[in-house]
Amino acid sequence: MLLSQERNLVVEYGRKMLEAGLTTGTGGNLSILNRSKGLMAISPSGLNYLDATAGDIVLMDLEGNIHDSKRKPSSEAGFHIALYKKRPAINAVVHTHSVYATTVACLNMELPAVHYLVGFAGKKVPLAPYATFGTPELAENVVNTIEDYNAVLLANHGLITVGQAIQNAFDAAEELELIARIYIQALSVGKPVIVPEDEMERVIDKFSTYGQAGGKED
Ligand code: 13P
Ligand code: ZN
Repeated sequence: MLLSQERNLVVEYGRKMLEAGLTTGTGGNLSILNRSKGLMAISPSGLNYLDATAGDIVLMDLEGNIHDSKRKPSSEAGFHIALYKKRPAINAVVHTHSVYATTVACLNMELPAVHYLVGFAGKKVPLAPYATFGTPELAENVVNTIEDYNAVLLANHGLITVGQAIQNAFDAAEELELIARIYIQALSVGKPVIVPEDEMERVIDKFSTYGQAGGKED
């Protein structure tokens, strides 16, 4: 099967999204791009993540043509494609309606650096203006807002994260949901203190060597 590895990963991470409480029902979608083949594997529209198998995952090229697939692609294929065209270093896109990130988006607020882990996205998570789901206008708003951040909130809708690999995009969606929850809780009690920009620069720099894959830290 063409792109079987990517298709299996889309199935696996769709289930993880559900298990991690990042989405409910058929909400959200995800994709992985194979740049050398010029094809992305994207979740099918409106199909429960637990029911989807590799054969249900849709293959599309970056012109929007469907290849070797029996299902209808995610209604948001447009912003997935637009993101891959805009950001040559990313190969995975995750979109969720996770509760706290979506709460921030419904307040039409950005997610500031209320905690250093917002560094998964950059110095903050910007907010894209509202447009109807699945429209070229939404895709345009997303690519006009994301700059070089690894995440963008969608006003009155949800969150998108991007990454070099699906694990990165998924981890960002999970961590940013935690930060959004902390932000909403902090706002409900008082005035959150925001980490200054120069400190966020240090944090983002330190992230590049964090963990087992990043080599020895200072
Ligand atoms: P799809 O099921 O078509 O991917 O739509 C879900 C969604 O989140 C729309 O924004
Ligand atoms: Zn959505």
